[in-house]
Amino acid sequence: MKRIGVLTSGGDAPGMNAAVRAVVRKAIFHELDVYGVYNGFEGLMEGNIKKMELGSVGDIIQRGGTILYSARSMDFKTDKGQKIAIEQMKKFGIEGLIVIGGDGSFRGAQKLTEKGFPCIGVPGTIDNDIPGTDYTIGFDTALNTIVDAVDKIRDTATSHERTYVIEVMGRDAGDLALWAGLANGAESVIIPEKQESFESVVAKLKRGQVRGKKHSIIILAEGIGSGMDYGKRIEEETKMDTRVTVLGHIQRGGSPSGYDRVLASRLGAKAVDLLMDGIGGRMVGIQNNVVVSHDFSEILDKKHEINMNMYELSNQLSI
Ligand code: ATP
Repeated sequence: MKRIGVLTSGGDAPGMNAAVRAVVRKAIFHELDVYGVYNGFEGLMEGNIKKMELGSVGDIIQRGGTILYSARSMDFKTDKGQKIAIEQMKKFGIEGLIVIGGDGSFRGAQKLTEKGFPCIGVPGTIDNDIPGTDYTIGFDTALNTIVDAVDKIRDTATSHERTYVIEVMGRDAGDLALWAGLANGAESVIIPEKQESFESVVAKLKRGQVRGKKHSIIILAEGIGSGMDYGKRIEEETKMDTRVTVLGHIQRGGSPSGYDRVLASRLGAKAVDLLMDGIGGRMVGIQNNVVVSHDFSEILDKKHEINMNMYELSNQLSI
């Protein structure tokens, strides 16, 4: 393989730039040409493609977002859209593509591979919701953003003796909420994978009140539903002064953590290695600190699972 392409797709995540940098530098190190595709699969179909040089990825390792931009494309989901995308890559002489994104993006990459165009997936999403990797690029940074925000909320919660419901991202996955719950010492963690009954959450809050607790923090994953509604129910039931904070897109931005930069560099480089070996149709990941890869079919047919031991621990430490 002499010429490869790289794109970012789906929701952006801190560390995507570090992954793009790793792909470009590793490819050039091995004397490959590398092309950046702008605006994800949408840009791929439009031929929004430019040659990358060593300097194209200078000064981006520390930046959030993605210099290649990201988009969601309905047209690319069609057979016709995928054929157009392959035609564009042929026009530029690109022989393999690295797709940095989430599971939706990998379905697209899988389709291209099935049509004879080798693609490698690199997991970039704050949600940590992809099987076959212990961590996705962006998760650690988003977790640290949440931890910092909840620490600040805790200060004011104590001053005013309030209960706070804090809604965090994660799509259908509870990882961000669970990890933040443990890291912030939350009273309860409400996640899609394990529903704690409303009665039990209320009972815990009341026990805390009797014990003289000055504040209570409940972290709720967005996959459960509205934090606002949950907060209202809590206030009605407990009569405690309850406030709700929806952290929102602040969780998607910011400079990537050291861990995310290292992860992105390792996974981006591995993706290039695979394409150079003529391998496509796989996602790279990290398991037990070893860089691995799995066939797309193994990833996309499975459901991501949370660590139930951590959930139990969170409950035990918040009695
Ligand atoms: P995140 O979960 O972080 O938002 P994602 O990669 O799952 O990231 P999606 O919006 O699901 O985000 O997918 C990104 C793009 O991938 C879509 O806009 C679409 O172009 C393409 N895609 C998604 N699903 C498919 C599919 N089944 N077949 C072909 N292409 C797909």
